[in-house]
Amino acid sequence: MTEHVTAAIIGAGFGGMGAGISLDRTGIDDWVILEREPDLGGTWQVNRYPGLAVDIPSLSYSFSFEPNPDWSRLFAPGAELKSYCDHVADRYDLRRRMRFEHTVTEAHWDEAEERWVIELSDREPITATYLIAATGFLSQPRVPDIDGIDTFAGTVIHSTDWDATADLTGTRAAVIGTGATAVQLIPEVARQAESLTVFQRTPIWVVPRIDMEMPGWLRALFRRAPLTQKVARKGNDLLLESLIFGVVHHRQAGFASRLVQRGAQRFLHSQVRDPALRRQLTPGYSFGCKRPTFSNSYFRTFTKPHVTLETDPIARVEPDAIVTESGTRHQIDTLLLATGFNLWDVNFPAITVVGRDGRDLGKWWRENRFGSFQGVSVPAFPNFFSLASPFGYTGLNYFTTIEAEMVHLSRVLGEARRRGAPTVEVTETAYDEFCARMRRLVEDTVFTLGDCATARSYYFNQHGEATLLRPTASWRAHREQQRFDLAAYRFSPAQSRSEPSAIRA
Ligand SMILES: Cc1cc2nc3c(=O)[nH]c(=O)nc-3n(C[C@H](O)[C@H](O)[C@H](O)COP(=O)(O)OP(=O)(O)OC[C@H]3O[C@@H](n4cnc5c(N)ncnc54)[C@H](O)[C@@H]3O)c2cc1C
Repeated sequence: MTEHVTAAIIGAGFGGMGAGISLDRTGIDDWVILEREPDLGGTWQVNRYPGLAVDIPSLSYSFSFEPNPDWSRLFAPGAELKSYCDHVADRYDLRRRMRFEHTVTEAHWDEAEERWVIELSDREPITATYLIAATGFLSQPRVPDIDGIDTFAGTVIHSTDWDATADLTGTRAAVIGTGATAVQLIPEVARQAESLTVFQRTPIWVVPRIDMEMPGWLRALFRRAPLTQKVARKGNDLLLESLIFGVVHHRQAGFASRLVQRGAQRFLHSQVRDPALRRQLTPGYSFGCKRPTFSNSYFRTFTKPHVTLETDPIARVEPDAIVTESGTRHQIDTLLLATGFNLWDVNFPAITVVGRDGRDLGKWWRENRFGSFQGVSVPAFPNFFSLASPFGYTGLNYFTTIEAEMVHLSRVLGEARRRGAPTVEVTETAYDEFCARMRRLVEDTVFTLGDCATARSYYFNQHGEATLLRPTASWRAHREQQRFDLAAYRFSPAQSRSEPSAIRA
């Protein structure tokens, strides 16, 4: 007998945990989380590189209904985030429903049985009435395809697979990549290594990180008067939102992102005196085309005598060196890959998902443009919710995305239960209208109006369309999830037609 559960969630990161909490709140407690890793936490379980920390203030980076008054710093280190994940799992009784080392390979809709059949690597399949993919946007590491990389004789470490025993003291290290991870990693490596060469393809906009230790009195205040933390969070959310206001509403408020860009330029100027080095570190694309990041030590690291910035493209890797196209040979013994994640080739979706009439989601997205309804659902995929979908990512704080999606799940599944509907599926019309509206709004963003040609940003898919970020303010996205007309979904069996207002949650 194949095991059957009411709901299966793929991924035990914050997204999967949020989905689990939503299911409990909706009255569905017969669910499992299938997780390929041996532990929970997603991003914060996998990434352990030196320097790992949140890249937005921790005041905002947590579930709003489960604030943590005990962050040690304004930008909490990664290990504290992992502890917070553990805390949430225990507090909301999620852990007992998690199954680790369960890698999902494929899921297909069984029309006759009205359920999802979920295939697992090296295990028996299970079936579920609802399938929720919480596989994250940044969970499929990108390993660069560089000629000769397999022949390298020294140590190779990817930032998502950090070797805790690795000692970089006195080594000749190289870092490939200058994205958000590299901004955190590079200053730490420079502190230990005898020499460090950083291979940069695309510079990154960096703004100052106003970090500080959280004073004891503030933590005590947050503990004793939780409302104060709520207010502090709101203020911080507003600040974060203002950082990308001009990015999302570039047509109306492009001056705001140009202002931030000018601030970032000034910051670079204050950190690096050498004009040639400064030029190399200055992005040639508009602020916001790529996720900006915060650091006080990144730029300054390049001014250290033992650190070299190499902007000449890599031609090949040899057993003891990296050789650039112009023939410069950098001898190294440790190669650190901060090459990020592959989103568009392998992550939409992260597994093979086959819906009604044999529709393969990955294939269909690639042949029909990427899209979703409210960042969550796609027609012909009944009872399926994908939390890492195109137009799903909202704002700079991932929790705004997760919590908006939790509202979506609760409303739709709550309504399905209320009606006793065995299946629920977004209509083609709702999907088309939502995608068309998002595409129109993208026309107003920096992605269309700015100069993003050289950004190589994961906000853009392989066809050059900016279909990752939901091009609206976070508060608007949240409000829409609370208010969209549930007639966007078809609940089966066919319900007697009621006024849309009557079926609003
Ligand atoms: C280094 C780093 C720092 C970040 N810092 C911030 C930050 O400061 N602020 C912010 O807002 N965002 C940040 N992010 C983005 C971050 O990914 C999100 O904030 C959030 O943690 C994502 O949660 P998630 O559950 O959606 O995805 P993830 O945390 O990626 O979890 C997805 C889970 O799905 C599992 N999975 C994937 N495929 C399968 C499969 N086939 N079978 C079974 N399990 C599978 C993975 O193992 C993983 O555990 C950061 C990302 C990275 C990589």
